[in-house]
Amino acid sequence: MTCGGFQWEGPVVWWRPVDGYRHALPPEERPAAGQQRETVCGESVTLTEPAAVDWLMPTCDACMAEACARRDARAERARAERGRAERDRAARER
Ligand SMILES: [Zn+2]
Repeated sequence: MTCGGFQWEGPVVWWRPVDGYRHALPPEERPAAGQQRETVCGESVTLTEPAAVDWLMPTCDACMAEACARRDARAERARAERGRAERDRAARER
């Protein structure tokens, strides 16, 4: 995947190991230990400070599917925007 030509919009999701799985959290707020957060698969969790070994927990399938869908939707938006910018430039140069 290329990042040329458009700005990085920040992470699609944050991953945090909690309750035995690595779950994804919505990107709006950076996760911090002690927060009560809703994962993108709909679980309500209390975040802890993850230890290195916690990252070895299995990835939540529902969160992974949602994270991929969000990434693809963002890539699709970026493609559409690039296409629009191209057409605008072509129209100006005509
Ligand atoms: Zn999950």
